[in-house]
Amino acid sequence: MPMKGRFAPSPTGRMHLGNVYSALLSWLSVRSQGGTWVLRIEDLDPQRSHRIYAEQIEDDLHWLGLDWDEGGLENMPANPSSQQGSVSYIQSERGTIYTHYLNKLKEKGLTYPCYCTRADIMATQAPHEADGRVVYAGTCRPKNLDQAWSNVDSHPSGRKPATRIIVPDEEISFVDAHYGPLSVNLARHCGDFVLRRADGAWAYQLAVVVDDALMGITEVVRGRDLLLSAPQQIYLYRLLGFEVPTFCHLPLLCNETGQRLCKRDKSLDMGEIRRSGRSPESVLGQLAFYAGIIDRPEPVSALELVPEFSWTKVPVEDIYVSK
Ligand code: GLU
Repeated sequence: MPMKGRFAPSPTGRMHLGNVYSALLSWLSVRSQGGTWVLRIEDLDPQRSHRIYAEQIEDDLHWLGLDWDEGGLENMPANPSSQQGSVSYIQSERGTIYTHYLNKLKEKGLTYPCYCTRADIMATQAPHEADGRVVYAGTCRPKNLDQAWSNVDSHPSGRKPATRIIVPDEEISFVDAHYGPLSVNLARHCGDFVLRRADGAWAYQLAVVVDDALMGITEVVRGRDLLLSAPQQIYLYRLLGFEVPTFCHLPLLCNETGQRLCKRDKSLDMGEIRRSGRSPESVLGQLAFYAGIIDRPEPVSALELVPEFSWTKVPVEDIYVSK
């Protein structure tokens, strides 16, 4: 398969330096291998996603000189036939595709309706101390799946159900290109997980797998906050018969207090950075220095970094960002 990478931002706010770090390294990896770079808009959260943020993301990427070959708000794919009926790179427009793959998993007898509220789930399981994750206890997992699905409109709770997938009690192993081998038992790590929310919104785990597979993505580069999502995704890749891409997770950029940057860290978001009068080359030089690609944080263009790029230079330790 031809080499293809992607940047898949959620348009829930202005990009911060950590988002740009992921975009830059994915872009450099693709450009240094002569591949194709895709921009996919992950606007699955209907409450938090706004088109204006997607427009700002595109504008910031243009400003930085990180050009994409496919995707975004306007572009059509080079090969629409590979898109199985949809040419959109905006997740909110891809619901019929997700429905198709959700139904495949349902036909395999692997999904069930779940009526638990967040409060129900919290009552059965305390959040995991280290990272706040909650392992679903399987409260709604039915003995008879067909019966469970035939009763969805007449459930005593009167609620609409979410859809969960049954996970096996076994290790899923893979090798991250940056962090090395990893094994996770999904039953212990997360339990049966959600593919579609009760309000109809698609879960990230399903959408990201379907999209990366159908868009022909061969290399997934993103922050290591998503490292432990990879086994859930690999499980879905295998069930749906898709080829698993290379995963390459990145160290996180942290603020002075050691917290990973988030969209609330206004001082390090692209709006503030651009308003402060900094040049794109200055921002790229700072990030390329953090990535070990250049020895000093000096201004540099995206194109000048391509010949300097190598994954072997990129650190695995998280990075503390100074303003
Ligand atoms: N949309 C996700 C985010 O902005 C990234 C998903 C991914 O790269 O797999 O955090």
